[in-house]
Amino acid sequence: MAELVYAYVSEAYPVRVGSSSLPVPTNRGKIKTMQDMNKDELKKKLTPEEYKITQEKGTEPAFTGAYVNEHSKGKYNCKVCGAALFSSDRKFDSGTGWPSFDDAIPGAVHSLIDTSHGMTRTEVTCAHCGAHLGHVFEDGPKETTCKRFCINSASLDLKKEE
Ligand SMILES: [Zn+2]
Repeated sequence: MAELVYAYVSEAYPVRVGSSSLPVPTNRGKIKTMQDMNKDELKKKLTPEEYKITQEKGTEPAFTGAYVNEHSKGKYNCKVCGAALFSSDRKFDSGTGWPSFDDAIPGAVHSLIDTSHGMTRTEVTCAHCGAHLGHVFEDGPKETTCKRFCINSASLDLKKEE
């Protein structure tokens, strides 16, 4: 019975490529999953604020995050696992006080209904590790997706590109 082999075509998504007779990709496991990282490890890796936001669904105060007014080109990766989540090309100034994007990198985030705090909102999490990122609203730019991914800076790690 052929053993399945997985390769990362992007940093985040394993894709089945064939049987074990093929060369095994050497970068497998580059990104740690939540199962790899226990609570104590995460507490060491993240600041208390980053832990509260990504693991306990916290929200940073408006206009306090590092990336609110960031305009550099690059990819915004998950603070917890490093998966690429948003491209700077999709960032726009929403005026809300949180980094805002009109779209995520395809497949990079999950959205789920969140009824906490007496509101019905759509929570956005990292599809790879489940870290809480923020929420998505339907009041984004009408000329593109109409979506506004309202994301905590503390959940993101910008890797700048030249
Ligand atoms: Zn992640």
